[in-house]
Amino acid sequence: MIIYVPNQTESVSDQFDGGGIEPGEVDDTPTVRCSRCGDEWDLGYELDTLRVGNRAIERFALDHKRHTGHFPDDAGAWSVMCECCPDGDEFLTERPARRWAETHARHTGHDVSISHADDGSVTIDAERR
Ligand SMILES: [Zn+2]
Ligand SMILES: [Zn+2]
Repeated sequence: MIIYVPNQTESVSDQFDGGGIEPGEVDDTPTVRCSRCGDEWDLGYELDTLRVGNRAIERFALDHKRHTGHFPDDAGAWSVMCECCPDGDEFLTERPARRWAETHARHTGHDVSISHADDGSVTIDAERR
């Protein structure tokens, strides 16, 4: 039988003796939130198993898009939305987003808006040929 005795932690404030924690195991694993899934992930899998280093967020974002159809919040994704039809898509970088918008405008004559979380949005004007 195991009796759990809670530690008296009231008097312990920010004092932390680091007991049992190895250097390098400090919890600095980046996390990614997705408001559409209502969930949050740390990137330990990307860092430890896939070993993608500082591209972990990018890799996570691409995998998330592949499996769920959308990018998580922190990906800084570019989203393109047609203003005339329900077509649209999301991209991790500006170039493919802009190309999608221009191609869609070219073939359909529709105006397409491109928006980015940080930079606001621009509209690709179909009249500009
Ligand atoms: Zn999601
Ligand atoms: Zn359209």
